[in-house]
Amino acid sequence: MARIVMKFGGTSVGDLDRIRNVAKRVKREVDAGHEVAVVVSAMSGVTNQLVKYCQDLSPLHDAREYDTIVATGEQVTIGLLAIALQTIGVDARSWQGWQIPIRTDDAHSKARIESIEGELLIERMKAGQVPVVAGFQGVGPDNRVTTLGRGGSDLSAVAVAAAVKADRCDIFTDVDGIYTTDPRIVPRARKLERVAYEEMLELASVGAKVLQTRSVELAMKQRVRVQVLSSFEDKPGSLVVDEDEIVEQALVTGVAYSRDEAKVTLRRVPDRPGIAAQVFVPLAAANVNVDMIVQNIGADGSTDMTFTVGKTDLPRAEKVLNDLKATIGFEALLADPDVAKISIVGIGMRSHAGVAATMFGALSEKGINIQVISTSEIKTSVLVGAEYTELAVRALHTAYGLDAPA
Ligand code: ASP
Ligand code: MG
Repeated sequence: MARIVMKFGGTSVGDLDRIRNVAKRVKREVDAGHEVAVVVSAMSGVTNQLVKYCQDLSPLHDAREYDTIVATGEQVTIGLLAIALQTIGVDARSWQGWQIPIRTDDAHSKARIESIEGELLIERMKAGQVPVVAGFQGVGPDNRVTTLGRGGSDLSAVAVAAAVKADRCDIFTDVDGIYTTDPRIVPRARKLERVAYEEMLELASVGAKVLQTRSVELAMKQRVRVQVLSSFEDKPGSLVVDEDEIVEQALVTGVAYSRDEAKVTLRRVPDRPGIAAQVFVPLAAANVNVDMIVQNIGADGSTDMTFTVGKTDLPRAEKVLNDLKATIGFEALLADPDVAKISIVGIGMRSHAGVAATMFGALSEKGINIQVISTSEIKTSVLVGAEYTELAVRALHTAYGLDAPA
């Protein structure tokens, strides 16, 4: 007998038939003798609609009222799923965040979970009841409902799993696992049986949108075993686990891409101490996230500086820097949103030389120009022209031997 948290995303509970289907899936685990708690998202499209209502009324709406509104999506699904479960003979009860309680800080619309009391849920599970918990929501210090940021029900599920000391947190979604890369780009991408937390974190943050990044961080911190699997097909998914559990470590586990960044180049920046601070401190103050950075040394005491920022932050970054043009003393700012970041990720990289060299070789063979490079212990990323995204991903997938046998 195991204790399992099962989480179903928006498409998995998209209509009543799908909710009935989820109920059957839950019943199977209950019938097998497991203790089960369920976490659900809002029905697909509902949260978007609720967010739009808020924005249409007022772009500068009160975040407390935004939370009051957008948290309702999950309230509907927990009630519906509880009824669907009861209808097929499974004892079930719905739970909103405040009833557990899932306590958060006061950062309305993007709150952080501070604590969850697991006792009540454990008690009910031991008594054979299935708690159906609303994802995405908690209760703030002011006793008002809070939400955890978009995609936050993954985080709720992992947090509930940690609080009830679950053996596993199963995330049911519309894909059947975590792949070596996006199967829409590389049909021969392979499903990974196991991925290390660290790898998943890098893959999640560079654009593999299967799991919300914060949920992976929490799973890693609390050592929650997470499984990603399809709610539509009955087959094993991918496990996100401690790297000790991964017997055969591939050099590169996955290839990820992101079109969410833009490139900024400052031409002819004076090459003197303090110049990087003059550029990046004001950007940070304006909440602009900077990712990759390169700087060249020019012969004439000036240098070109290139870096990437989130695409949506680009207008703000341009304004901040152009306002400081005279103070910083650069000649021109060039912005290029038509770029893509391609990354290879793998814990095997730690202990092997030449992994990045293979990457550069494979890209050069395809005539793809690398604009910026950045590396970390288990990741190497390059910035290329957006039009090369697919070609680069395919070339790297093949170069690291990740293609499934034909
Ligand atoms: N319903 C929320 C959203 O769409 C939370 C979630 O689905 O994870 O962001
Ligand atoms: Mg999601």
